[in-house]
Amino acid sequence: MRQVEYENLHFLNYPFFDDYRASFNDTLERGWFILGKNVEIFEQQFAKYIGSKYVIGVASGLDALEIPLKCWDFEPRSEIIVPSNTYIATINAIINCGHIPVFVEPDILTYNIDCQKIEEKITSKTRAIMLVHLYGRPCEMNQIMALCQKHNLELVEDCAQSHAATFDGKMTGTFGVGAFSFYPTKNLGALGDAGAIATNDEAFYLKIKAWRNYGSNIKYKNEYIGDNSRLDEIQAGFLTKKLNHLDAITTRKNEIAQYYLENLDKQFILPTVDERILNAYHIFPVRHPERDKLKAYLLENGIKTEIHYPIAPCDQKSIQDWARNAGVAIDEKDFVLSREIHKTELSLPISTIHSDEDIAYVVEMTNKFSI
Ligand SMILES: *Cc1c(COP(=O)(O)O)cnc(C)c1O
Repeated sequence: MRQVEYENLHFLNYPFFDDYRASFNDTLERGWFILGKNVEIFEQQFAKYIGSKYVIGVASGLDALEIPLKCWDFEPRSEIIVPSNTYIATINAIINCGHIPVFVEPDILTYNIDCQKIEEKITSKTRAIMLVHLYGRPCEMNQIMALCQKHNLELVEDCAQSHAATFDGKMTGTFGVGAFSFYPTKNLGALGDAGAIATNDEAFYLKIKAWRNYGSNIKYKNEYIGDNSRLDEIQAGFLTKKLNHLDAITTRKNEIAQYYLENLDKQFILPTVDERILNAYHIFPVRHPERDKLKAYLLENGIKTEIHYPIAPCDQKSIQDWARNAGVAIDEKDFVLSREIHKTELSLPISTIHSDEDIAYVVEMTNKFSI
């Protein structure tokens, strides 16, 4: 029986081993490991790639979400709009900064924040929207930008899953402040933790750049309290090498997605197609009422899948404990569709490690599923 893994970091990185070894040797020989040439080069090349004026490398995707919130200096317990179905990091970032996440339901067709439901959640305490281009699919950026302008809100885009994805030809992370993760499994992944923030505002850029390094742009002169959240030289070197292949990675993922879209049976709810976007397909989500049985059946047939994500944020102990301690009421009505997605979603293999034969086998077996 054919075995299809969901992901495999050895095979994922194998094509880049020579590049990575050369980069590592170069860094080792130079003997400079924090904030040096590699970080500067990566920041410049990534900024150019996404079409942003500035990029600041940081230590993780979570830090990339938190640092802009800290740098805006909102008053404590400001309200930040966030989708009710996302990876927990987006919500944790808001809470870690002392603010209140205000949950908005997703659109059941795109799984992204439902723009029609944002305005009713805006109050005098709302300061920003923190949206997520979930699974690599860009949000409705026209509507989001109009809302931000109308209500004078800042915008953070969680681009942890959407490197190279575009809306109307413009890359995600360049509409508001872009927060990227380079966790090893992401479309642009490092060999450890890494992240970056993108902005077009020079003053904000300088503040973030200082913030990641104890609030200091000049040695031993501290302007802000800041964090230690520096992208390190070794990871920056690897990322610069991998960035050269991001177009090819995105293209291959789109090829696999296209094959799935054309060949998967109608009993599965598939991602909807939209001419205005380029989807990065970090994840290929299908939905089915018997998701758990489908997952078990595929595993019996040698196919590994994932669930993104099994538990809705409102059902997480961490969020419930936080809400109780903070005196915040979580309204389950904001999680009806979110829970539905968490209950029915299954992620099919969509990595550059997969051959056409692997993907054809996934389709063949998935289509044979019957309850
Ligand atoms: C991976 C991920 C993050 C967090 O990134 P880290 O680098 O692991 O901190 C945040 N948001 C989303 C949507 C993610 O998928």
